[in-house]
Amino acid sequence: MRGIATVPTYVVMQPTTLCNLDCAYCYLPFRADDRKMSPAVAAAVAGPVNEWSRDSRFSVVWHGGEPLAAGREHLTELLRPFAPDVEHHLQTNATLIDDAWCEFFAANDIRVSVSVDGPRARNADRVTRGGRPSYDRIRRGIDALRRHGIPFSALCVVNRPAPGLATELYDYFLDLGCEVLGINIEETEGVNLRTNDHPAAAVRAFWAELVAAWRRDPRIHLREVEWSLRYAAAVLDGTADAVLPRQLDPIPTIGYDGSVVLLSPELAGFSDPRYGDFTSGNVLATPLPEILATAHRLGWIREFLDGVEACRSSCPYFGFCGGAHAANRFFEHGRFDGTQTNHCRNSKIRLLEGVLDHARDHERSAA
Ligand code: SF4
Repeated sequence: MRGIATVPTYVVMQPTTLCNLDCAYCYLPFRADDRKMSPAVAAAVAGPVNEWSRDSRFSVVWHGGEPLAAGREHLTELLRPFAPDVEHHLQTNATLIDDAWCEFFAANDIRVSVSVDGPRARNADRVTRGGRPSYDRIRRGIDALRRHGIPFSALCVVNRPAPGLATELYDYFLDLGCEVLGINIEETEGVNLRTNDHPAAAVRAFWAELVAAWRRDPRIHLREVEWSLRYAAAVLDGTADAVLPRQLDPIPTIGYDGSVVLLSPELAGFSDPRYGDFTSGNVLATPLPEILATAHRLGWIREFLDGVEACRSSCPYFGFCGGAHAANRFFEHGRFDGTQTNHCRNSKIRLLEGVLDHARDHERSAA
């Protein structure tokens, strides 16, 4: 894997900056403001996206703020210019989902992912703008999806890995009925300054316990564990070099105003005296393919590519990780050419170690 691809596999779209919740760990800087994407921005993105979707599977991920806070009418307008082949995904806090939204998801073939951190007591960080718990509203939204038979994924943020937590979470999500579960160990990024420095043994044990819970009843696709197993299988087959894509996916994030930030959606809305505002251009002024073709000229992206090369030459986990995310380097190190971050320790290194610990324990108990 070298350099940045000029054709992405997905784009992230910000239909509004607004979120109706105010989660304690949120990284978004403008979530109290209602700045909506214009249909002209959606049309400018749809042009190249429709072309790319003719050649291979292509996704648009609607992410916010809270995308449903843009309203159904407005989202309908934004979806209009996209060709039928384009896959639409939407990440939501679920609190606004009702029967009408479910009908909208079904009519537009939108794949829904809900953010929920486990049972009620685990959602203390997910509060309304008035600081009130949001769990009942989240559950009502998920219940509406279930009533309408709409399949959904779930994204769970883990604040502090501790013994017993992985089993509790897995059992909860099994009962919730999601098809895919992603687990994010909370990240120190954006406006969230809480620490993500956890004892290595606790994080490793968390992942090992999660694999054990999953193996007892593997009805859910468990994103991180499946990545790890795919990598482990490729190492055993001698095909590990083929696990990572040949080039980094640029992951264009299109802001409400058409500005484009590459590689890490979490950098959108931030600026730094050394790097400027991280934008690579605006789709209202420059076609997205042109922005992507010249991306490698930006100083912070060149520095990030140096960081990826430093990872390649120094980190035994590079074949699994590929150098992880630009935003974690920036928000943890203040620059892009460092290597290990707490994020990569929590979510790449300890993950792989935890999965292997589970395999070794299993082998020992089978012997
Ligand atoms: S695990 Fe961390 S240090 Fe290793 S390749 Fe990934 S980002 Fe780089």
